[in-house]
Amino acid sequence: METPRHEWLTTNPRPGTSALLSNTAQTGWKMHAIVAKESDSPEDVRFLSAACGLRARHGWGVDFHITEKCTRCTAAIAKLKM
Ligand SMILES: [Zn+2]
Repeated sequence: METPRHEWLTTNPRPGTSALLSNTAQTGWKMHAIVAKESDSPEDVRFLSAACGLRARHGWGVDFHITEKCTRCTAAIAKLKM
């Protein structure tokens, strides 16, 4: 049986914008927990749903300026005991 794992990722910023240059509180960007299987490639993970059910329209990305975690994802992950 495959071990589930999760990654904290953010929705990709719009092209040409950066979280560095914009107010993250205003944009509402948060880290969401993407639950994936060990065999899922990074490309697969990009288009999976987050634990809270959110889907990233342009795929998930990494932004080190965003540190706030989605509370619904946090709760879902806790339930999964991951
Ligand atoms: Zn979430």
